[in-house]
Amino acid sequence: MTTPPRILVAGGGYVGLYTALRLERRLGRGQAEITLVDPENYMVYRPLLPEVASGTLEPRHAVVPLRAALRRTRVVTGRVTSLDHQARSATVLSRAGEQLHLAYDHAVLGFGSMAKLLPVPGLTERGIGFNSVAEAMYLRDHVLRQLEIAAATTDRELRRRALTFVFVGGGYTGVEALAELQDMACHVVDGYRDLHRTEMRWVLVEATDRILASVPKDLADRATDELRRRGIEVRLGTQLKSAENGVLHLSEGPDFAADTLVWITGTKPSRAVSKLGVPTDDKGRIKVAETLAVSGMPGLWAAGDNAAVPDLDRGGLCPPTAQYAVREAKHLADNLIATLNGRRPEPFHYRGQGEFVTLGRHKAVAEVMGVKLHGLPAWLARRTYYVTQIPTLNRKLRILADWTVGMPFGHDVVDLGSREHPHAAFRDAAEAE
Ligand SMILES: Cc1cc2nc3c(=O)[nH]c(=O)nc-3n(C[C@H](O)[C@H](O)[C@H](O)COP(=O)(O)OP(=O)(O)OC[C@H]3O[C@@H](n4cnc5c(N)ncnc54)[C@H](O)[C@@H]3O)c2cc1C
Repeated sequence: MTTPPRILVAGGGYVGLYTALRLERRLGRGQAEITLVDPENYMVYRPLLPEVASGTLEPRHAVVPLRAALRRTRVVTGRVTSLDHQARSATVLSRAGEQLHLAYDHAVLGFGSMAKLLPVPGLTERGIGFNSVAEAMYLRDHVLRQLEIAAATTDRELRRRALTFVFVGGGYTGVEALAELQDMACHVVDGYRDLHRTEMRWVLVEATDRILASVPKDLADRATDELRRRGIEVRLGTQLKSAENGVLHLSEGPDFAADTLVWITGTKPSRAVSKLGVPTDDKGRIKVAETLAVSGMPGLWAAGDNAAVPDLDRGGLCPPTAQYAVREAKHLADNLIATLNGRRPEPFHYRGQGEFVTLGRHKAVAEVMGVKLHGLPAWLARRTYYVTQIPTLNRKLRILADWTVGMPFGHDVVDLGSREHPHAAFRDAAEAE
């Protein structure tokens, strides 16, 4: 009896989850041993993070538990630290802190991306990114806390900096995060006697002459108008030069102080990639052929944000989006199976179907298969799309329940920031003994 091929899936995000799901569906029992490695035991459904930040979605409902979704895959929680592809072995630092050596015949690399920082003084100390559930949850609590600080103080300068929220980067992630949080803050502020919406200052800083470069210009302009109508300062052609001591120095205009600085200017491949000894391009992305096989390394495959996937339909490279990552993952799985069966892998073809950008409750812009939408129809189309796409019935129902409850009741505005220091009350009690 021959032993089944061992397939290692490194990373449990879009690429990892959808590759493993496809392999499970297309390969019979015993036809392959699939192992997936990720530091977390869940996949983050990142397009829903802006709604986690604004409290329209419970954080746990925006993730997919890997073991529940993947019934025939062994899930290892840990971090892939190196590869010895000659020996077909991956080294993993497990959650228990132990080093594991996982043997494989084929490995799929889907480590995703991380925030791309620029050498702006004070940025690392003062800024925060928007790529994880933790960051989305933190920002929500942080904004709510800033409102409490502003309401509680008599110091006008402290009040002003507490109520100043700056987002750098006008791509869809930056716009969505800012728009959702501002929408929530407006809703919350209405409940304060001594705070008013107009006291808040929300600033979007974008280096180029427009926001939302990936959507058609007229939709981007509509989004800009919507943000400005809500009093948000959209500063185009502007760069953040310094954030030292919380004082923001932009390329134009006077300096001002802000306690909130969110940096969302793009991403670069995850740090793990540089340690693997795989071929990369000038931006650190793994070089892959049009079949998604890593160039010159048979048995190794890559897709998603960490790979430079040729875009055969539009030229250049495929954009680093979930929409592409899902299609690449499914195609990669099919090609891997074809290779196992002695067939030729096929080139990857996909043409993007459009994009949704949420701008807060009942507000969005979208382009779906060439049809442009805005306002409520775009917002409803976005929600319908994501709820049908998220894997497992369990998650679909939980998200639907959150949204349904949110319809009449709006944002959930409780700041549970105290969970950042869960031992504090216990230590306090010990001190009081
Ligand atoms: C806030 C936000 C909103 C977005 N909205 C949209 C949208 O509306 N539409 C859209 O199409 N795209 C959107 N995107 C982009 C989309 O989420 C990414 O393109 C997509 O997640 C890429 O999939 P991936 O599998 O390459 O990476 P990811 O989904 O990021 O998965 C990478 C996985 O690798 C794991 N990993 C990292 N290092 C290691 C290691 N050393 N060992 C093992 N595992 C490791 C990580 O834990 C993670 O689970 C958004 C992104 C963000 C951050």
